[in-house]
Amino acid sequence: MLGMHTNKGISRREFLPGALAAVAAAKSAWTQTLTAATSRPRPFRLIPLNTGECLLGKNHVLGDPYSDDERVPFTIYAFLADGGPGRRVLIDLGPVGLKYINDMFRRYRFFRDLPGDPDAIRQPHSNVFDWLKRLSLEPADINHIVFTHLHADHHGLTDARDGGAVMRFPRATVHVSRIGWQDNLGKRRDGQWNSYVDYAFADYLLAGEQRGIVRFHDNDEVLSGMDVIHMGGHSPCSQAIRVQTDAGPVVIAGDEIYHYSLFERGILSRLYTTPEQQLAASNKLADLAMDGAILLPCHDPLLSKQYEQSGDAWLRDLAPISRRAARGFKASAKKKLPRSAAEG
Ligand SMILES: [Zn+2]
Repeated sequence: MLGMHTNKGISRREFLPGALAAVAAAKSAWTQTLTAATSRPRPFRLIPLNTGECLLGKNHVLGDPYSDDERVPFTIYAFLADGGPGRRVLIDLGPVGLKYINDMFRRYRFFRDLPGDPDAIRQPHSNVFDWLKRLSLEPADINHIVFTHLHADHHGLTDARDGGAVMRFPRATVHVSRIGWQDNLGKRRDGQWNSYVDYAFADYLLAGEQRGIVRFHDNDEVLSGMDVIHMGGHSPCSQAIRVQTDAGPVVIAGDEIYHYSLFERGILSRLYTTPEQQLAASNKLADLAMDGAILLPCHDPLLSKQYEQSGDAWLRDLAPISRRAARGFKASAKKKLPRSAAEG
């Protein structure tokens, strides 16, 4: 009968392969779904570790026309991305001790010569090792250390003798931008480093690659749910780290962005490789934010304030601030790039 759906007239021989194929297809789809569900990595829990605070001159940070009489608060961060055992990552280490970094900043005349030394770096929450203790973790629990870049307020050296704090993490692989590292190597003459990376630290990284505990790579996965994106705006080795979290993708912007409020007004930092790269990096970050990522500027006191206030909801609460900053950056007709001594 027309319009009547029946298997009548279809032989058992014809019917069975079709049915079996349908069952097989359903089973395959189910298996794929199950595999995807089980192989999808657990999102990272991300925690900002306040490892130092200081006051820097506005001219030092942003260049002309700003004056050093005005001070900009800087918080220095490490970040813990905790994806469970085997997936624990530190992004930057901050300063571990204060003397080395404060002496260096004084040499650069970053601090005013005032009684009580109000500008110098302090550590009201101590350093990355005390943070780990408070979080019931040991240095041996850390599997990876990723550097946003190799400036001294990020790498954890306490003197100029060796690799510094990275040497205290016995199971960690260290990740550094290869493009930045090649730039550093290119400046080496007759076995002497001639770059902004502390020489003993550079020696340690060079030997570490031979020992398989340091990886130089760009635009690559660190482990599932985390990848690095080369920026090269603030320094040749600057990279952003994208981390999948319960609040969605988060991009740790490194020093390409100091503060949300500066980014929102299109004010770029004084220290850059070339103006073109600084602008390109900032635009790339703004695009990532417009696509839904939450940006984290690496010296904004707001990050730890928000974490103290909101706990694990800190990223959700920063999302609208990040979006607004990216929109502001895109809208700022003239990006204010200062005249600057380019990064060496
Ligand atoms: Zn920095």
